[in-house]
Amino acid sequence: MSKKVLVLGEAREGVLRNVSFEAIAAAKKISGGGEVVGVLLGDSVQSLGEEMIQYGADRIITVEHPHLKQYTSDGFGQGFMAVYEQEKPDAVVFGHTALGKDLSPKIASKLSSGLISDVTDIEGEDDAAVFIRPIYSGKAFEKVKNKDGLLFITIRPNNIPPLELDSSRTGDIASITVEITNLRTIISEVVRKTTEGVDMSEAKVVIAGGRGVKSAEGFAPLQELANLLGGAIGASRGACDADYCDYSLQIGQTGKVITPDLYIGVGISGAIQHMAGMSNSKIIVAINKDPEANIFKVADYGIVGDLFEVIPMMIEEVKKIQG
Ligand code: FAD
Repeated sequence: MSKKVLVLGEAREGVLRNVSFEAIAAAKKISGGGEVVGVLLGDSVQSLGEEMIQYGADRIITVEHPHLKQYTSDGFGQGFMAVYEQEKPDAVVFGHTALGKDLSPKIASKLSSGLISDVTDIEGEDDAAVFIRPIYSGKAFEKVKNKDGLLFITIRPNNIPPLELDSSRTGDIASITVEITNLRTIISEVVRKTTEGVDMSEAKVVIAGGRGVKSAEGFAPLQELANLLGGAIGASRGACDADYCDYSLQIGQTGKVITPDLYIGVGISGAIQHMAGMSNSKIIVAINKDPEANIFKVADYGIVGDLFEVIPMMIEEVKKIQG
């Protein structure tokens, strides 16, 4: 039976995050030829609807309110519930992002629905859809099916490819008015801890530095390589603890979980807690002067050598290739 599926579009500074398009692709599979409805919540999001349609959504519903300018679970919860009540979908897809991880269990429990979180792939369609998700910090995968009734899933960024953008697609963009009341928290200011360039959780290439990088200055060549490859910088907790970089860059069990196309670990030993955050990357390259380093066990390509020699050589080679 074809389904109606709601997808929450996530925007940052007026730009839709890639995971929104990946969520539409997931919703298409679940819908089995039914309807995919994009949901946009914010203070000014109307203009983003068209792009969601071009990536495969059939129509869009927006909720605009000054209290939705910044995410709060109360505000977004009220906005999303209003759309839910109007649409009564069969399934809902969120990104497995900070926002999605906070909001999806809240709404799913309110609706007494189950939630399949951190989905990395979907086999089959419609009622036959089977959801694949990592368990035990990525050491195994489980396949989960929704028994019946309402389905909630969150999808891990960078795993389910978005559909190709089709600029000829059109669809209805409607808005609904919602009173956002009784907020228990109001965000008065957001102070961003900015790092240069691309956001690590959505980056296709991540260059991660460890304690072997030896200093904050030691991260500069890694940043140069990341810039050349259009990638982002990450780090081990060892590097963060040593104050070489900010904790927002930490990858691992107590940091971010990433699945880029290419992860390059530089001067990182490969502790189990670090590998919990990167071992599902598509290609893993490790650079370490110790041939026995644990990270080589999961690496597709290993370079045994001094990172202070290897990274400048890589930068030179990439520059040559890029002309
Ligand atoms: P080290 O283990 O010190 O490794 C440094 C590596 O650099 C060595 O392998 C060395 O051979 C190499 N090296 C040194 N100089 C050079 C050079 N010139 N060229 C090439 N290689 C060189 N860690 C995380 O990363 N993420 C987490 O989320 C996380 N969560 C944790 C949670 C708990 C509860 C605990 C107990 C620990 C956690 N840790 C986490 C810490 C983890 O156990 C390790 O201590 C940490 O990952 C080590 O960081 P590192 O590999 O940079 O440093």
